[in-house]
Amino acid sequence: MRYSGFRVFREGLRRNSGWQPLWRDPEPKPAYDIVIIGGGGHGLATAYYLASEHGLTNIAVLEKGYLGGGNVGRNTTIVRANYLLPGNSEFYSHSLKLWEGLEGALNFNVMHSQRGVLNLFHSDGQRDAAVRRGNAMINQGDDAILLDREGVREKVPFLDFDNHRFPVYGGLFHPRGGTARHDAVAWGFARGADMRGVDLIQNCEVTGIDIEGGLVRGVQTTRGAIRAGKVGIVVAGRSSQVAAMAGLRLPIESHVLQAFVTEGLKPCLDHVVTFGMGHFYISQSDKGGLVFGGDLDFYASYAARGNLPMAEHVMEAGMSLMPMIGQARVLRSWGGIMDMSPDGSPIIDRTPVEGLYLNCGWCYGGFKAVPGSGFAFAHLLAQDRPHETAARYRLDRFRTGSGLMDEEGTGSQHNLH
Ligand SMILES: Cc1cc2nc3c(=O)[nH]c(=O)nc-3n(C[C@H](O)[C@H](O)[C@H](O)COP(=O)(O)OP(=O)(O)OC[C@H]3O[C@@H](n4cnc5c(N)ncnc54)[C@H](O)[C@@H]3O)c2cc1C
Repeated sequence: MRYSGFRVFREGLRRNSGWQPLWRDPEPKPAYDIVIIGGGGHGLATAYYLASEHGLTNIAVLEKGYLGGGNVGRNTTIVRANYLLPGNSEFYSHSLKLWEGLEGALNFNVMHSQRGVLNLFHSDGQRDAAVRRGNAMINQGDDAILLDREGVREKVPFLDFDNHRFPVYGGLFHPRGGTARHDAVAWGFARGADMRGVDLIQNCEVTGIDIEGGLVRGVQTTRGAIRAGKVGIVVAGRSSQVAAMAGLRLPIESHVLQAFVTEGLKPCLDHVVTFGMGHFYISQSDKGGLVFGGDLDFYASYAARGNLPMAEHVMEAGMSLMPMIGQARVLRSWGGIMDMSPDGSPIIDRTPVEGLYLNCGWCYGGFKAVPGSGFAFAHLLAQDRPHETAARYRLDRFRTGSGLMDEEGTGSQHNLH
């Protein structure tokens, strides 16, 4: 079914009786050419691009819960391409270009809104770093505008500009950055993959990976054994656990990241604003809620829920930057499990097991990567060679130490990225 304004009008006249489910609910087949473990944003996008770019459709996506129930439906929806380092720059730049054509390609409204991302700075040293990052973004072909204090004031007049500890010196503005509706991204990719013949199988947990003579043969699941020519692991915060089924020990730690949303307010915040010094960022959703978050929980955990110390930390940071936020009532908070890599950059690569591929390490920034990651991982699965935008996301960089991409300059401690 193709969506259009005319279709919405016609369904309105027919009491909305003609809409179809977005995807089928197939039984798993005994064998597929490719099995993708994980029905989050990256897994669904991979399936979509395998079908749309490479014509491969004998594919199953196996999801242990429901599609979009993981981090893809839990994030704060920020989409941007403001990276500094070679490797990341070209990848996120490509991903943003895919975002810009995504609604047309999927024929699905993902509510992509290029409202601009504003990164604040609070010292001369931070300004220098912002200039350097902005130049890297422009060299990559993306957009960046350096704002002084008054430039920031025009966009967000209600900040505490004279905060004693973190006075606002200015900001780096990225106009093409913004937000997208996270659930719709999962649903749009799921629908696009299903329409092309991919089987999306929910409530199907992978419990084992079958390997014979160093070659992957298939997977064991709660719905039976499934044979596969190739298997892709795309399970975000569960990456270490699923890779362990193949005897692999990954350089990944899982940490909880929390987020919060307030009651709906009248439009007051036009952009995404980040306050790096306070580990705080905020935007306003289309429903009016202020959506905000902060830093990781500092200990490793698989619990996809929040806790009070981090809630307090985030509220304090919010109040320091934007005292008016104290007037808003928090509606709810939640957590997701982040797959933290030692250098803060992801992995899209083959594994030592032939036919077994890995996509993980997205840390707290993998939502904006969904199209780019799906595109690159599909390329790797289909052609057995990395896509040029993801060629540096090698697994062995953590063994050799060569090719690390540490955007934050915080070293190899997972929870500092
Ligand atoms: C609070 C929060 C805020 C965030 N904000 C942003 C942001 O603003 N911008 C941004 O770019 N990123 C953000 N992120 C990060 C982003 O959401 C993640 O990096 C990204 O969604 C991870 O990829 P995914 O969508 O494929 O993960 P998921 O949606 O988690 O998909 C993985 C799937 O694998 C499934 N799975 C796990 N184990 C198995 C198994 N054994 N068998 C079958 N299936 C299995 C899981 O159930 C899950 O559905 C945020 C994350 C959180 C939690």
